[in-house]
Amino acid sequence: SVYPDGDAAIRQTDSDAALARYSAVQKRYFTDPFIKYLVPRGAQYQPPRPPLINIGTYVRSEGVDKLVSEFFELSKQDQKQCQIVNLGAGSDSRFWRIAAGPNGGQLAAYIEIDFPEITTKKAMAIRKSRELSALLGKPEDITLSNGGTALHSPVYQLLPADMRLPPSEAMNALLALPGVDGRPLLSPSLPTLLLFECVLVYMSPEASAALMQWFVDYFAAAEEGSVLGGVVYEMFGLNDPFGKVMLNNLKARNVALPGAEPYVDIKSLAQRFLQHGFSTARALTLRDIRQFCISPEELDRISQLEMLDEVEELDLVLEHYAITWGAKIFSNVEETRVDW
Ligand code: SAM
Repeated sequence: SVYPDGDAAIRQTDSDAALARYSAVQKRYFTDPFIKYLVPRGAQYQPPRPPLINIGTYVRSEGVDKLVSEFFELSKQDQKQCQIVNLGAGSDSRFWRIAAGPNGGQLAAYIEIDFPEITTKKAMAIRKSRELSALLGKPEDITLSNGGTALHSPVYQLLPADMRLPPSEAMNALLALPGVDGRPLLSPSLPTLLLFECVLVYMSPEASAALMQWFVDYFAAAEEGSVLGGVVYEMFGLNDPFGKVMLNNLKARNVALPGAEPYVDIKSLAQRFLQHGFSTARALTLRDIRQFCISPEELDRISQLEMLDEVEELDLVLEHYAITWGAKIFSNVEETRVDW
């Protein structure tokens, strides 16, 4: 791999993310029947995260969930099945939550990519859990390859890659080349959603841009009207005083955030998509999502779950995280927009 030492610290962030989700579930911010099978048993005895972290996890999760269900609605209008590619998926449980829910049947492919160390661990967790395996298909349809670093099933695919490598090699080999049945894992002609949750900050802006552009080019060859959507969740604005404190905390753990550098304010975040010709790109901070996108009843419910001591700090933290989403329609008609 390219940066051996920092990589261990980057991979460690997956356990943090999974434990944060597990903690928010324990404290009843939301339900997730699958996360417990993806967090190592030993780690489950750790004390729950502080209320501030649980609230952040809740708001982020609600925001991304909402965008994902809207993407399903958009593709339903086109009467099409759709695909999701989760980049830097880590121990995320989203596939299982979708597969067990009303949109499960609409998924043509769900592809997760992460470092081989992470995909190996996840493949083992899947094999060990009857609950996780059952939603993948019949046991004979679930196979491992590449020395246990990849797992395949009819819809769900777990694939190893270092996404900083040139996507013309890494992504081509994984997603675009014809597989055993003669078709690539990723169809260029179905509506597709790219998820980048807390991952682009760990990559240089150049590497992220190359990755995003690879997908844009892959779908450009697609049928008229094909839709590519993207959701990015990340830290930003780290050069103000509070941002610097957050940055230093991470540096102390040897985690570098090259991907956060150019994103100094909320307006700059849309560039993640606009620089690749997306027709729609919007960004909201977690602070705004909490304030404007979550119902008063829900806010009331979660305010009763735990005592929050750091009330002033909450907004400061939440305004350094944002969800950015964009969509691109491949069309011969100029200025085709999608209402998302
Ligand atoms: N997306 C998951 C979530 O939101 O719960 C996991 C987020 S975790 C903070 C970041 C993940 O990105 C880790 O699993 C890490 O291994 C992965 N990652 C970071 N850089 C990567 C790279 N260059 N190639 C592949 N995976 C990477």
